[in-house]
Amino acid sequence: MKRIRISDLISNPKIGSEVLVKGWVRTFRSNRFIAINDGSTINNIQAVVDFEKEDENQLKRITTGSSIAVIGEVVESQGKGQSIEIVVKSFEILGDANPEEFPLQPKKHSLEFLREIAHLRFRTNTFGAISRVRHAMIFAVHKFFNDKGFYNVHTPIITGSDAEGAGEMFRVTTLDLENLPKNEQGKIDLKEDFFGKETNLTVSGQLEAELAALALGQVYTFGPTFRAENSNTTRHLAEFWMIEPEVAFNDLNDNMDLAEEMLKYCIQYALDNCWEDLVFLASRLEEEDKSKPQDQRSLPLIEKLKFVVDNEFIRLTYTEAIEILKRSKPNQKGQFKYPINEWGADLQSEHERFLVEKEFKKPVILTDYPANIKAFYMRQNDDGKTVRAMDILFPGIGEIVGGSQREERLDILKEKIKTFNIPEESVWWYLETRKFGTVPHAGFGLGFERLMLFVTGMTNIRDVIPFPRTPKNAEF
Ligand code: ATP
Ligand code: MN
Repeated sequence: MKRIRISDLISNPKIGSEVLVKGWVRTFRSNRFIAINDGSTINNIQAVVDFEKEDENQLKRITTGSSIAVIGEVVESQGKGQSIEIVVKSFEILGDANPEEFPLQPKKHSLEFLREIAHLRFRTNTFGAISRVRHAMIFAVHKFFNDKGFYNVHTPIITGSDAEGAGEMFRVTTLDLENLPKNEQGKIDLKEDFFGKETNLTVSGQLEAELAALALGQVYTFGPTFRAENSNTTRHLAEFWMIEPEVAFNDLNDNMDLAEEMLKYCIQYALDNCWEDLVFLASRLEEEDKSKPQDQRSLPLIEKLKFVVDNEFIRLTYTEAIEILKRSKPNQKGQFKYPINEWGADLQSEHERFLVEKEFKKPVILTDYPANIKAFYMRQNDDGKTVRAMDILFPGIGEIVGGSQREERLDILKEKIKTFNIPEESVWWYLETRKFGTVPHAGFGLGFERLMLFVTGMTNIRDVIPFPRTPKNAEF
C-alpha cells in the first residue's frame, strides 16, 4: 500500500477508502484520538483507535513526537475541527519519543526556547508554516524572474574582491592559525594561503551580477551572503540570502518599478498559495500582539499583506524625507535617539520607521541619497552631492531593499573609487565593463529573510531561517 500525504488526503478525501498515513504524533487524547502531522500541511489528520482492541503496550508508545504509520478507513468526522478522520485498522510505531525527554510537549513554547532546539522546531506548527512559506517564496522569486526572461546567475561565494564596502567580511583561509607563515617583512605570507591571496565570504553578488547583466541583459542572483557585522538586532543575520537583480539599460525609475512589482508579486503569491499557513501565522501574531501596548501592535497579517499589494509605494527623495523628519513631532520633542539636524545625516531605523509607519503608513521608496553615505558604484547626480540610490522601507521592518542606478561613466567611476580609497587594481575587471561597451544599468538587493519577516508576521529574523547565524551563535 502506498502512503498518502495528509494534504492530499484532506484536499481530496475518498470517504470509505482505506489509506496509509505516516507522520509524527502531535497529541494522543483519551487513549483514542491521535493527531498526526506529516509536514505536508498545517492540518493534522485525526486517527481514531479502538483502545479495547489494541495491545496496551503498543498504545503506550503513542506519545507526542513519536513517529507512526496508520492504516484505516476514511470516514466523515463526528468531532468538530476536522471534516474527515481515519478509523484505525492497524498502526505501527516507527520511532518512539520518550515523553520524559522529548522537549516539544503540546503546550506553548517561547520562540526563544524553540531557537535553542532548532533541530526539532520544524515539528511545531509555527515553524512548519514558516518553512512552507519560505519554500513558496523561494519558488515565487524564481518564477517571477523566469517569467520575465531574466537569467539566474551564480556569483562566487568565496571572493577575492574586497571592494563592495557593504560591511565586515568573514575571512576564508586554510593557513594554520597556530603557525602562520611569515614573509621577509614579518607579515603573514598570504602567498602560502590556499588562493595565494586574501579571500573572504561574499557580502553581495552585485559586482559580478553587473558583469553578467552587461552581456545577458537581465539577470538575478539568489544566494547566501555573509556579513560579520556585530549588530545583534532582530533584523540582521551573519548569514542571509539575498536576491540581486541587475538590468542593462534600466534607470532608477525602471529599477523602482521592478522592485515594487517583484515585492507585490511575491506577497500575492503567498496569499494565493499559502493561505492556511498564513491564517495560522496571522492568529499567532494576533495572540503575540495581545501582550503589547496598543501603539506597538501590527495590523492583522492578512490585511497588512493585502494592503501592500493593493497600494502604490510612496516615492520621495532623501532631501524631502529629511525635511519631513526635521519638522516631525518626535524630532522636535527630542524623542529620536539620533536627532535629525541637517542634510547629510544617515537615516537610522527609527527614522525609517517613522516615515513608513507614522507619516505615510505605506511602503516608501527613498531616492537620491548623499553620495558619501552610499556605495562607490552608485550613479552620481548632476548636483554633485547625491547619487541615484534607492532604499525601500517596509512597515515593521525598515529597509527591505537597497539598490541604485550604477555609475556607467568610466572617468567618474575612477574618480569615485579614488575618493573611497579603493585600489584601482583590485577592481580592474569591474572597470573594464565601463571601458568596453558601457551602458546605463541598475539593480537592487532584497534581503530574503526581511521579506520573510514581512510575509510571516514574525518579528525576529532568527525565526524565519532554519539555522540562524548571529554573533556568538553557530549551533547546529
Ligand atoms: P541595513 O541598513 O539594514 O543594515 P544595508 O544597508 O547594510 O541594510 P544592503 O547592503 O543595501 O543593506 O543590502 C541589501 C539588503 O540586504 C538590505 O536591504 C536588507 O534587506 C538585506 N540585509 C542587509 N544586511 C542584512 C543582514 N545582516 N541580515 C539580513 N538581511 C540583511
Ligand atoms: Mn547593514
